[in-house]
Amino acid sequence: MKYFIGVDIGGTKVAIAVVSETGKILKQNVIPTELTILPKEMIMKISNSIREILAQTEIVKNDIIGIGIGSPGPLDAKEGLITHPPNLQNWRNVPIVKWMKEWWSVPIILENDANAAALAEKWLGAAQDNQNFVYMTVSTGIGSGIIADGKIYHGASGNAGDIGHTVVDPSFGQCSCGQYGCLESIASGTAIAKRGSDILGKQVTTKDVFTLYDEGHLKIVAFINKVFKVLGVACVSIINTFDPEKIVIGGGVSQVEAPLFEMIRDYVRNYALNPNGRNTTIVKAELDQNAGVIGAAALYLDKISANSKI
Ligand SMILES: [Zn+2]
Repeated sequence: MKYFIGVDIGGTKVAIAVVSETGKILKQNVIPTELTILPKEMIMKISNSIREILAQTEIVKNDIIGIGIGSPGPLDAKEGLITHPPNLQNWRNVPIVKWMKEWWSVPIILENDANAAALAEKWLGAAQDNQNFVYMTVSTGIGSGIIADGKIYHGASGNAGDIGHTVVDPSFGQCSCGQYGCLESIASGTAIAKRGSDILGKQVTTKDVFTLYDEGHLKIVAFINKVFKVLGVACVSIINTFDPEKIVIGGGVSQVEAPLFEMIRDYVRNYALNPNGRNTTIVKAELDQNAGVIGAAALYLDKISANSKI
């Protein structure tokens, strides 16, 4: 049996796991993302954590196929650089692959976290039989991973799929990127909490907003219906652009399930241009919790043929 190391770097925590070639997590560790220390010190902590969890297993270095790292973008996957992620302040042009190679002699791959999660859904989740699909995560931010002909579509620099900054309704005001009405500035968990707080005149969380939605609070229902509609608009743009078999939606906001998915499917049925596109399957992600580390491990699936469905 061979194993992968999956590392999922987030704005608040880093998950590190030893994953088998069948996708089973043998050991996992979660450490806080410390943004007050130098990036290299934080990466050294990640490396030490890998060593610790490996020491708790019987696995020897020769059994490790490689270390996969999923990170928020923008990044340069080819060069192994984390270039400019908004939620990792001070991490600018961080050569994470080069630094990790100082401590590890196994192959190391860096990938955008949404792309890694898309691969995880293809390997073990909601898109196992799909060669062309888009995974969209609606969480603190909004991003997507595009799988075209069974492979990640990277674009020129590895940043394809940054759908969060697609303009869907300029009337919602300016986004942090400078444009007006970006999807992320309306429908991300962060945006929902912020606008919900403005509507209610008090500080509330995304979860509070959805509780009020379930209870039928009129202003919140009107607001959330608009949020669901812009997610439908985004899905139609995805369908018109990529003609996918399926859209898989993950992230915290997808947990609201029925009303979100019903409204998106309804919007798509009415507005996708291609009649086939109107019937695009739209489903919830299946691996939300561990998609990051499993996806980071899945970056190596093309290196083994046995037991892999990719
Ligand atoms: Zn934007």
